[in-house]
Parts: sequence; C-alpha cells; structure tokens
Amino acid sequence: MMDRTRIFSKTLPRHRRAEAGTVYLVGAGPGDPELLTLRAADLLAQAEAIVYDHLVAAAVLDMAPAAAERIYAGKQRGNHTLPQQQINQLLVKLAQAGKIVVRLKGGDPYIFGRGGEEVQTLAEHRVPFEVVPGVTAAAGVAAYTGIPLTHRDYSQACVFVTGHLKDGSMDLDWVGLARKRQTVVVYMGLLGLPILCRELIAHGLPGDWPAAIVQQGTTANQRCVAGTLATLPDFADTARLKAPTLIIVGEVVRLRDQLAWFEKLVELPTPTQR
Ligand code: SAH
Repeated sequence: MMDRTRIFSKTLPRHRRAEAGTVYLVGAGPGDPELLTLRAADLLAQAEAIVYDHLVAAAVLDMAPAAAERIYAGKQRGNHTLPQQQINQLLVKLAQAGKIVVRLKGGDPYIFGRGGEEVQTLAEHRVPFEVVPGVTAAAGVAAYTGIPLTHRDYSQACVFVTGHLKDGSMDLDWVGLARKRQTVVVYMGLLGLPILCRELIAHGLPGDWPAAIVQQGTTANQRCVAGTLATLPDFADTARLKAPTLIIVGEVVRLRDQLAWFEKLVELPTPTQR
C-alpha cells in the first residue's frame, strides 16, 4: 500500500520511480505539450512501452526514450485502428511481460476517453495501475480562447457532454441542457452541430444565445469561430474547421472579446517549429 501521508506531505519524493509490470494511464493534455503534468513527464521519461491515441501531440511522444516501444491505438472518427477490447488486452499483456507501460490519452483519461473501461480490465486481471489526470480539452480550450467556463455573473454550472452522433441523432437531455446560467461544453460535436443548435433552441434557449466552436485548441492551429445558436452552424461550415473541435454554449462566450490572449500572440510558432 502507498503511504498516503507521504504523498500529501512535504516529504513527497520528487520522482517516484515507475514500477515494472504497471500500467500508467496518463492524460497528455489538449495539445500544447507544456500543459503536461510533471508526473506525466516523469513517467514518459521512464516508459518502456507506450500505447497512444490519435490526439496525443507528437512533441509529447518525443519525451519518451527513443528505445521505448510505441504502439498506436488510433481512434479517429470511424477509424478505430485497434478495437477497444484489443487495446484493453494489449495493456494487460504488456504489463504481464514486466514492462513499464504508459497508456497515453489526449486530455484527461477519465473524460470521454474510455479510460475507465481500460482500468476496469486491468483491475479484473489484477494488473497494478496508476491514473495521472490531464488538462481536459474543455479546460485547455477555455483558457486559451478567453472563455471562462463559469463566471459569477453568467454561469454557475458547467456540463460536459458528448455530441457523438448515433444513427444520425444525438441522445441528450435537452431540457437539462437548454438552461440559462450554465455553460454547455460539447466534445465530438462538429458533425452534430446543426442538430445541437436546433434542439437547444427548440427546448427554450433564444436563437441569439452565444455559442462558439474551437478547432485544435492550445495549438498553433487554434481557431475559434463564435456566433449564436442561430448562426454558428453556418459560420462553422464556412470556416471549414478541422478536428478536433470543441463547442462551448453559454453567455460566457461573450467574454472572449475581452479575455482572448492566445490568438493575439504575435508569431505563433508553426507546428514544425514546436
Ligand atoms: N479525453 C479527452 C477527450 C477525448 S474525446 C479530453 O479530456 O480532452 C475527443 C474530443 O475531445 C474531440 O472530438 C474534441 O471534441 C475534444 N478535443 C480534444 N482535444 C481538443 C483540442 N485541442 N481542441 C478542441 N477540441 C479538442
């Protein structure tokens, strides 16, 4: 058992050595490699096998030793390189072979990342594991676009939902989402954006309710298109946004005019300079 008093006291060792035969489920953050946690960087440097997802930045992967085995687990929309079951089994196999395994996921592993399922399989097989949180896309995008997710004057709650389409529709609690004084953040919502806006209006939000969609937040390719529920689908269409994108709905979106800073930085590094 880990000694928790040590973990939370000042005697916390700066570098806890990674253990062979353990799987570290690590959040890689939303894009900017500097948003990685110290623990994530430390584990990456010790990794012997890395199983990584589509959204993990190359600069993050580069932090692992050259000798570490790198296994791409994929998961672009409609293109799952390895089915989830196989990923779960692969993690068990690598750990049982005695490797220090880092399972790298974009953002935070427990937010729309199937991290829970992977750790459940590890637990069933009695494989030791540790979970390292990451900056989830909502937090990263909010900070880098100048949209505070909550604000005392506008929004007292924030809901994260998946906009993933199933059979061409979105099965969400529309009554709960179409409330004022809250912020709705939609992951995986680009294809469903017209449905999202239409349903939120149909369930009571005004057509001029602020909404924004952000492409590749926290990276040099970040682009934010802001509008209203009525206008955003057309704006997004015209802008030809590229995945990944995140949608933010709520009055806090208006604060962007005053609080945006990242896009104003002169000479953003291009991806190749990073
Ligand atoms: N576990 C991840 C989310 C995985 S689901 C996290 O915590 O962030 C993948 C979705 O996350 C994408 O479809 C997109 O909606 C969102 N996303 C991830 N990175 C993003 C980024 N840099 N900019 C905008 N959206 C992002």
